[in-house]
Amino acid sequence: MEFAYKELKVVYDLFLQNGYRFSFFGDYNSKGRVFLRHDVDCSITMALEMANFEAGNGLTSTFFIQPDNDFYNPLSQKALENLSRIAELGHKIGLHISPSNCQNQEDLVQYIDRTYNYFSGFFPVDRIFSFHRPGSFDGWRYIEVPGFVNTYHSKYFKEIFYFSDSNRREFISSDLLEAPSTGKSIQFLTHPIWWSEEGASPKVISDKLFRDNFHEIRSALRVNIRLFANLLKD
Ligand SMILES: [Zn+2]
Repeated sequence: MEFAYKELKVVYDLFLQNGYRFSFFGDYNSKGRVFLRHDVDCSITMALEMANFEAGNGLTSTFFIQPDNDFYNPLSQKALENLSRIAELGHKIGLHISPSNCQNQEDLVQYIDRTYNYFSGFFPVDRIFSFHRPGSFDGWRYIEVPGFVNTYHSKYFKEIFYFSDSNRREFISSDLLEAPSTGKSIQFLTHPIWWSEEGASPKVISDKLFRDNFHEIRSALRVNIRLFANLLKD
C-alpha cells in the first residue's frame, strides 16, 4: 500500500457499487451504511486536505479533533479557519478524547461534557467522540455519555464491521474488500497523517511536519515579538 488517496477511492467506489450510503454516525442503521471517521492526532492541515479529497468525490465524513494533542493548537487562527472550511465542505467535527486524563468513569463523562461545552464556543463541533488510545481506560467501550455518540459503542464497533489504519496498518485486505458484499454497515477509520495525493513514506511525512512547524514557529516569532521581527527577517 502507498497510502495514496486513489487507494481509498477504490474502496469507497466499492462501497458505493454495493449500494452503501456514506452516513453520519447519528443516522444509524446496522445495514447499508458507511460511517467514515478520521482521528486527527497530528495535523488539521492534513485533515483539510483529506476533507477536500472526499468532498471532491461527493463524500462526507466526521473529523475528530484532539484538544490535548502534542502537535497543533485547535484554537489557533489557522486551525479555526481550516475547521470552518472542513465544516463548509459538508463534513462534521467531533472530539478525539484521551481517557487517560481521567481517574474513573464519572470523571470521564464530566470531562467529555466539559470539553464539548468549551470547544463548541469556538468551532462547529457535534456531540460525538472517539477515544485516543482507548485501551488506557478500563471499560472504554461501554462508556455512555448522555446526549453524545460514542464511536466505540458496540453498535458501531462490534455489531457492524470496523476497519482502521491505526499505526499505518496495511488494512486494505481481502476481509475489507469482501465486507461490502454482506450489506452489513461499516465503520471505516483513517488517520489523515498517513494519506496524501501521491502517498508518502513515514520518513517523508515526518520531514514535512518538521518543516511546516519550523516555518510556522518562525513566522509566529516574527509576527508576535518585535525583537524577532528583524532577527528573523529572511
Ligand atoms: Zn488518536
